[in-house]
Amino acid sequence: MAQNRSGICKLCRRAGIKLFLKGRRCSTDKCAVEKRPYPPGQHGKRRLRHSDYGVRLKEKQKVRRIYGVSERQMKKYYHYAAKTKGVTGELLLQFLERRLDNVTFRLNFALSRAQAREIVNHGHVYVNKRRVNIPSFLVKPGDEISIKEREASKSLVKDNQKLSEDITVPGWLELSKGKLEAKVLDVPQRENIAIPIQEQFIVEFYSR
Ligand code: SF4
Repeated sequence: MAQNRSGICKLCRRAGIKLFLKGRRCSTDKCAVEKRPYPPGQHGKRRLRHSDYGVRLKEKQKVRRIYGVSERQMKKYYHYAAKTKGVTGELLLQFLERRLDNVTFRLNFALSRAQAREIVNHGHVYVNKRRVNIPSFLVKPGDEISIKEREASKSLVKDNQKLSEDITVPGWLELSKGKLEAKVLDVPQRENIAIPIQEQFIVEFYSR
């Protein structure tokens, strides 16, 4: 999804939470949410009251921005989730989490989802030994993720891994130690998706 990178921190300030859109900077005291914990703009410090609709819209926008998906894609995931047996909100997050760009980020092969999308787009990521350059590709249990056998690809990813040493890979993914390979063990459960979101609001937003 095309994004305005210049004012990207404003998206977090407007959402009122860290959306982690800028890689390592997000974990430092340079983060704009830490420095200015109120919405951007002249009247940002004013207390705003949100309608029920506004609260639901805000929650949907947060998720859309965290995963960097367009409104069209978001609606598509909602419709998939609504048609699938289970809790719609959780299934919606599950679809987003299974995207190849997100998996690349979760494995610490990239510092942010935006960088992960670029890494996938440029053909550095393989699934089951085949190059997949589609960020929205959905992984499934049993899939093997690896990095292209080329020095430039490997060193890019290794550098990112070093910078993300303190970030734990979620339990539904298994990263081979010392290798740039991983396996999808399971579909992600809600407790594996550590984002402060009330997904029920998103369901209510789309089903209104
Ligand atoms: Fe958001 Fe990261 Fe900017 Fe902080 S540094 S406001 S988390 S994008």
